[in-house]
Amino acid sequence: MSHHPKSDRELDGISRRNFVRIGSVALAGGAGLGGRAFPAAAGKRPGLFPAPSQEARIQSYRTLGRTGWRVSDVGMGSVPLRESTVVRYAYDKGVNYFDTAEGYGNGSAERAIGEAMPHMDRAKIFIATKSRMRDGDSAEAIVDRVRKSLDRLKTDYVDSYSIHLCSTVAALSHPGYHAAMDQLKAEGRVRFTGVSYHGPGGGRDDSMADVLIAAAEDGRFDTVLLVYNFLNYEEGDRILAACKANDVGTTAMKTSPGVLRYEPLDPDNLTERQAAYLERLARRGQSRESALERLEAQTLRQKDLYERTRPFVERYGLTTEEQLRLGAVHWVLQNPDMHTACVAFTNFDLIDKVIPLSGNQLGAAETKLLEECRLALADQYCRHGCRACGASCPHDVPVSTIMRYAYYYEGQGYEKYAMSLYAGLKGKGASVCSDCLGDCAGACPHGIDIQPNMLQVHDLLTLA
Ligand code: SF4
Ligand code: SF4
Repeated sequence: MSHHPKSDRELDGISRRNFVRIGSVALAGGAGLGGRAFPAAAGKRPGLFPAPSQEARIQSYRTLGRTGWRVSDVGMGSVPLRESTVVRYAYDKGVNYFDTAEGYGNGSAERAIGEAMPHMDRAKIFIATKSRMRDGDSAEAIVDRVRKSLDRLKTDYVDSYSIHLCSTVAALSHPGYHAAMDQLKAEGRVRFTGVSYHGPGGGRDDSMADVLIAAAEDGRFDTVLLVYNFLNYEEGDRILAACKANDVGTTAMKTSPGVLRYEPLDPDNLTERQAAYLERLARRGQSRESALERLEAQTLRQKDLYERTRPFVERYGLTTEEQLRLGAVHWVLQNPDMHTACVAFTNFDLIDKVIPLSGNQLGAAETKLLEECRLALADQYCRHGCRACGASCPHDVPVSTIMRYAYYYEGQGYEKYAMSLYAGLKGKGASVCSDCLGDCAGACPHGIDIQPNMLQVHDLLTLA
């Protein structure tokens, strides 16, 4: 398949009145795929995407590399999962690949899958779970963690157990992990192994392609979980090629590249989100005036991004932001080398919208829409897993990681989680950017202006 955008870019305008009325737009957001409306365009041109259906079932199953499993092209991600009924509903639609992790909701996601387990035929589903491997984690400790996952999942075995958030090639050889997997495989508790990469943890970590191509060629790993979407596929395509050559199973996450929201700021008529933001600042002792200033700075950034998207929102008659997100998932499904694309289902409605994409061909209008979106936003979206600007920063600020946390906050709505991750960087955050001469200027091959982004994101992620 070709991923290259076409050159035409007819960006037409809409009136200021409509701009304000539309109010918000989101390009994507891997988790919730929320459904706010675009009122100005409502009803204009329906039918870009397959219609939601309660009857639709998975239409395509692909072989997950050397595991030999035939997995549904749409898999289920579970970061925000808390409800077992959602798992059951996805299973009833033919989804048979369930991705989870010990750390999702401190075990809550695994527990929700476990609660659904009695409803499912265990032999017909692939359960993939994972945990972080820290330096010094012993085989014994890892075996103990896996047993706890099995308890939560209410199963005797998991189909795969992966190194989660693996950000260096060296970490692929974690001795405790491999010793634990040898033992658990011998006991029949784990069938396959894998690796997930979410982004470099620091400026000196390896890139997604470095880590996952090494994993594919290593021989000890049966599956990989990678970031893959219509704005971030260059590294992914190289990884997929390596996986194909080595018969490694491929699974996608972050299929929708970030979020783009615009909420006009009217101090006398704040949205719920804006009011909550001001409240948090007030609790920290900030005056309303300075809090509004911060909010205004955020709003201006959103507005700039929004203005780039409004032409195609209009042209394609998009009625909900979900359509863009569904298009992004649909795009990933077109690549047969990606065996399953995990979507974090949070409710039945979302499942009814995504399942009709299974086995369905991307139409010309959708393709064009995504191409225009890509052109408009190419220099705005920090690619998860990228570290191309890493060497440019004298302070070793992990730009890609910090931008990813902002994506969790803005794109996925995990505000507290994102802020706690950022706080966990312990002095390696972007506060240093305010006193820096900006050595990173021009370092992003995608044209992202790093310093102002870092300053805004720092502001976003340091609110209590
Ligand atoms: S700012 Fe650009 S170079 Fe830096 S991590 Fe993001 S996409 Fe990569
Ligand atoms: S502004 Fe300075 S400290 Fe911040 S990422 Fe760029 S080079 Fe590093």
